[in-house]
Amino acid sequence: MISEEKKAELLRHAEEVFGRVQEYQRLGLICEDGDFVPSVHYPPITQYEPCDIDAYFKTYTQPADGLMDIYVHIPFCIQHCTFCHYPGMTGPRIQEKTQYVEYLLREMDIYLRYFGLQKIRPRSILLGGGTPTSLPPKLLDHFLTEFDRRVDMSACRQYNVDLGPNSINGEDGTEKCRIMKEHGITRLTIGLQSLDDHVLRLMNRPHSAQEGIESVYKALEYGFDVNIEFIYGHPGETIDNWIEVMEKAIQLPMAEIQLYRLKVQAYGDFQGVINRFHRGSAPTDIPDFKTTMMMKQIAIDMLRENGFNERLRRVYTRNPAVYSHYAYNQCCNQYDQVGFGLTGFSSYRDRFDINTQYFNEYYEAIDAGRLPINRGLVRDREEQARWAIVLPLKNRDVRKNEFKARSGYDFDEVFRTKVARLEEYGLLEDTGKVIRLTEMGGFVADEVCEQFNSIPYIPFPRERYAEGPLNPYENNSLDA
Ligand code: SF4
Repeated sequence: MISEEKKAELLRHAEEVFGRVQEYQRLGLICEDGDFVPSVHYPPITQYEPCDIDAYFKTYTQPADGLMDIYVHIPFCIQHCTFCHYPGMTGPRIQEKTQYVEYLLREMDIYLRYFGLQKIRPRSILLGGGTPTSLPPKLLDHFLTEFDRRVDMSACRQYNVDLGPNSINGEDGTEKCRIMKEHGITRLTIGLQSLDDHVLRLMNRPHSAQEGIESVYKALEYGFDVNIEFIYGHPGETIDNWIEVMEKAIQLPMAEIQLYRLKVQAYGDFQGVINRFHRGSAPTDIPDFKTTMMMKQIAIDMLRENGFNERLRRVYTRNPAVYSHYAYNQCCNQYDQVGFGLTGFSSYRDRFDINTQYFNEYYEAIDAGRLPINRGLVRDREEQARWAIVLPLKNRDVRKNEFKARSGYDFDEVFRTKVARLEEYGLLEDTGKVIRLTEMGGFVADEVCEQFNSIPYIPFPRERYAEGPLNPYENNSLDA
């Protein structure tokens, strides 16, 4: 157990970092109440207009090497977690799951026909949701077998599944691990979310801390690479119990730990249960901004001291060879990625689309032989330049030669005032060939990257930021 002296040191450092965060709030970088929107796509995923599919794909060509990353969304879970803003179904739902899997495979067939392909050639695959392993073993096996028929795995370097602990515990879970192994799955992301039973109950998670730990050992025993996820800033979490959770997490033998900050107001289409806490219609004990930021810094310090270094933003690994290829390919290399299923999104070299979020619309589109895309955007030249900064800057760095190839602009000719300000205030550094976040810039990465969003896509209205030199609405044009 961590000593009182060590704890005092962690708290001191976290307080000091929070003091700097407040300074950036006064400069206009961070919105007044500390709320945030994670910069995970650019432009933000739900801010697109409905699109005509043929017009949207008219100027699209498949990548020259024929390689893609694939995302598949399975929108079923055991029960709904309080913090989750995704639409989906809970409970056994055998009939619905069986129907959904058939439509998912038919969607892939429509895609193959649309682009005249025999098979899709993935660089990596991510099955997410939802909880893909909430499919019963036989149905999971059927889906993976049929999925295999539609992909050519010769260039696939990683096959990842997101799941919850109880879906691989017990006898059924053993069967699912065996099936996943048989189908070439290599990496599991396990949503532990906490290792404190009281917090897990408040999150409405269907597992205990001990069951979470068992699932990690089980996955490792089957030879999967394992990434575990935690949420900080959730009701019931305190600095003390968060330190205990991190201590337990660090002792587990997997390579990667991923941290998410609780998002109370959804930025997508649906508001999760947690939003009721925020609106005051239920008792609230959501940790305040300062406590939440301190939790983040404490976790970073503890992880670093135990050999975990940040590989992609908010993912810490003790083995740099183990990381999400899907995330790296999409956010850093900006390769084409195609998504299937309800809310499945696709990110291509110059455009981005998302499938419908409603089951009935999804089924109707597929019955009509159409791709179930309901919103999409082809980026113009300026948005393309912004996209080529936001995601690589957040997750790795912006390589000026790559930026030029993706956008057509010289990096040194764009956003000169903004880049100079961010450098002056210690958030960015320019090595000549590469632009990257400083350590402090990485701590507030979403806000720094959103400096490059165009005005309609800045997460909050101007009045929610202080009128300082880092207000995102300042010097926002490409040539400023
Ligand atoms: S957080 Fe994960 S397990 Fe919980 S409801 Fe959302 S998708 Fe399902």
